[in-house]
Amino acid sequence: MDKKTCLHCGTSIVGRSDKRFCSDQCRATFNNNTRTKDEFLIKNVNKVLRKNWRILKTLNPKGMSILRKEVLTEMGYNFTYFTSVYNTNEGNQYAFCYDRGILLLEDSKVRIVEYQAYMKK
Ligand SMILES: [Zn+2]
Repeated sequence: MDKKTCLHCGTSIVGRSDKRFCSDQCRATFNNNTRTKDEFLIKNVNKVLRKNWRILKTLNPKGMSILRKEVLTEMGYNFTYFTSVYNTNEGNQYAFCYDRGILLLEDSKVRIVEYQAYMKK
C-alpha cells in the first residue's frame, strides 16, 4: 500500500487509509486556503464582467449603438469575458454581459445592443 502524506504539510499519515490530513488543524488550513483561492478567482472574473457591463452601459444607455472597437479597448473592455451569447438567424453571435451585448462588425466597429425578450432561447 502507498504511504500517505498530509495534503497540507506533507507529514506521513498513520491510521485509517482514507485520511487525507495529519490533523484537524491541517485539514482546516487546507480547506480555508482552497476556499480563499476559489473566492479570489470568482471575484476577479466578476470584476472584469462588471467593468465590461459598465462600459457597455455607458456607451449604450438605451437601444442600440454602433461605434469603433478601439473606443471599448481604450476604456479597458475585455472581449474574452461575457456572460452569455445570442445567435441571430443571420448567423451572427452577440456576446452579452448581463443585459448589454456586443457584435463585432466589419471595419473594426462594434454594435452594442440592449437585451430584448425575444433573445431568450
Ligand atoms: Zn499535516
